[in-house]
This record gives sequence, C-alpha cells and structure tokens, in this order.
Amino acid sequence: MKRSTRVIVLLLTCVHCATARSAAAQAFSEARLQQACETLQRTPLATAELQTLLDVSRLATNSPALRSRSMAAYSISFLLRGNTNAFERAAQIHRQTFPGDPTLISVNRDAYLAVCADCEGTGLTTAVCPSCMGSGKCKSCAGSGHLKSSDGADTPCPSCKRSGTCPMCAGKKNIETPCPICKGTCRVIKLSEKVRANYLSLLTNMVAICQDDMDFSEQFNQAKNENDPAKRTLLLQALIQRFAHRADLKPARALLEKELKNSEAVAASRSKQREQEQAQREIEALRNLRDSKDTAPAIATLRAYLAGHPKSANQAEVQTLLDEMETQQARKQNLKKIAYGTGALVGLVLLVQLIKPLLLRKRRSGGTVKEIDKTRFSDPLTLTAKESKARVNNKDPEADDNPS
Ligand SMILES: [Zn+2]
Ligand SMILES: [Zn+2]
Ligand SMILES: [Zn+2]
Repeated sequence: MKRSTRVIVLLLTCVHCATARSAAAQAFSEARLQQACETLQRTPLATAELQTLLDVSRLATNSPALRSRSMAAYSISFLLRGNTNAFERAAQIHRQTFPGDPTLISVNRDAYLAVCADCEGTGLTTAVCPSCMGSGKCKSCAGSGHLKSSDGADTPCPSCKRSGTCPMCAGKKNIETPCPICKGTCRVIKLSEKVRANYLSLLTNMVAICQDDMDFSEQFNQAKNENDPAKRTLLLQALIQRFAHRADLKPARALLEKELKNSEAVAASRSKQREQEQAQREIEALRNLRDSKDTAPAIATLRAYLAGHPKSANQAEVQTLLDEMETQQARKQNLKKIAYGTGALVGLVLLVQLIKPLLLRKRRSGGTVKEIDKTRFSDPLTLTAKESKARVNNKDPEADDNPS
C-alpha cells in the first residue's frame, strides 16, 4: 500500500474518533460544500475540494446525509486516481459508519476491474527458461546426467540428479512467471462509466441537498423573524408544506403549533370582546325603551330579550326595567278605565238631562195617566158602585143619573 493511501485510509478510519472533537471544529457551511461539489463535477480530482469532502465527512455536527455522501464520493475518488485498494478499504469503512446507506457506493469490482488481456486472466506469463535458454537440458551436465570428475570418472550430475533435464523448467524449455501487467492478480483496473456516473451522481445529490438546506434555513429564519403573527403562521405552513420531505421539521412544527394556539386565544379574546360590545349595545337599546311612549311593544321586546338571553349578565337589570314598564302600563290602563267610566257616567247624566224634558212634556200632554179633578175628589170608600164605575169610565155619575 502506498504511503499516501495509508494516510488517507487512516484519516477515514478516524471518522469515528473524530466526531467527539469535530463539534468544536471549524464552522461548516453548505455553501462551501456546494461550491466544492460543483467544482468536482467539472474537475473530478481537484485536491482542495476533495479535502473539503473529507472535512465534511468527519464533522459530526453536519447532517448525516451530507457526511455519508461526502465520504462515499471521497471513497470513489480513489478509483478515479487508480487506487483500488484504498477505494475498497474506504468503501468498507463507509459501510460500517453509515450502515443505512449501502447503495450510495453502487460500484462493484466488475465496474472498475477487467480481465488482464496480457495473461488472459491466468495471472501468469510464459518465458523462455533462463537456465537452459529453451533447450530443456540441464545446464550443468548439458543433458547427459553425468559430470566428469578430475580423475576422468563419471559422477552423477547433482543439479539434475542424473535426469539430464533442466531443473528450472523440468525440461519444458519455458517457465511461467506472474504477469507483469496484472502482477499475478489476473485483473487490471478498467473503470467503467458506472464509476464516474456514481461519483457525479453523489456530487449532484450533495449540491441539491445543500441548496435544500440553505433554502429551508432561509425560509425558516424568515418565518421566525416575521413580526406579524398571521404572516408568521402562513410562512410556517408554507415551509412545512414545501419541505415535507425533511426529517428536521420538528422545531418548525412546534413553532407553528404555538402560533396556532396563540391565534386561537387572540380570536377567542376578540370574539368575547365583540360579544360584550354587542351585549352593551343591546342593553343600551333596552334602557332607551324606558322612555318609549308605546309600552306594549317595549314590554314585548324586553320579554323577548329575557327569553332569548337566559344567561345574560343584564338579566336583573332588564327584569327590573320590565317590571317598571309593566307597572307603568297597568297604571295607564287603570287611568284609562277610570277615564272611560267617568266619560260614560257624564254621558249618561247628559243623556238623562236631555231625555227628562221630553218625558215630562209627554206626560203633561195627557199621556197615559189622567189628571184627577181634585175638586171632584171624594173618598173612594164613600163612592157608590155606580160612581166607581163611572169614574172608571171617566163619566160623570151625575150626568148618568141626570141625562140632559
Ligand atoms: Zn530450463
Ligand atoms: Zn545435469
Ligand atoms: Zn496479467
């Protein structure tokens, strides 16, 4: 492993232990990360921007979504730099640190490794045996299996043990060595489009998240700083609706709930005030009825009010007013009766006065009762039957007795 790779993998390994002190680390801004991602979209291996990704992935105060994506993108950048070992190590750490995001790094070995064309995937390459130079014979005994000693006697060749074949290639003339291209791994680095696509997708995703974070933050601050409660409520409702996908809406929801409760209380207070004002206007109008000349409709209005407002605070006052007006009405009616009675009496007297002379005149003019001739009066007990009969017939008994 290259020294640089060791350093980087060590940095990534420290993500866990770095979180404790990262809270106090330099302030991170979404704007800075967004800018870095946009630069990396154009220049995938820009050093300073890659460092920004690493910094973001290590800051525990950052959103987990941004930390995970920064780390994933940084890991894939190793592939773009041709370091598959560093990539595999970093990808493994990413999986351990963010187990919920296994799909962020979507590339597998097939996406960045290809079969070595040089060794055709065997990992080996065939070369002429450097010992026998392709003869297949033992170099020491030239293939005889024997060596001549100084005294001229034959001795067995110690190199090939009398076989006479090259001990290095076992007589095959060629030997197999690890492929110099793939170094015996059978595969060579060959990045497919998927690697770049995965990298760019992560960067695009981060740009969008940063923008969303900044928009949310701006709109939330605008809502919090709005002085008009009604406008503040509308801003919070719009915020929650627009950013419904976000997991950090709890403070906004809590603030909205508080606003709604406040506005309910204000509305209730206003409504109560309006009711009080209305009741005040009503009682003023009822008080004015006291001066009303026409008591009957006034009394009807007061009765209707009492029936319609059984719980009104003005009940006692209205009841007193009603009692007063009813008394007033009764008094008026009594006066009216007396007036009518007096009038009738006066009328009767006048009538009598008018009729009386008529009656008297009629009687004088020889009506039904005949005037008695007092000169001719005599005690009825002394009258003879003839006289009584004559009196009844209004005839002079003397005349009867003495007809002329
Ligand atoms: Zn050989
Ligand atoms: Zn030999
Ligand atoms: Zn090879």
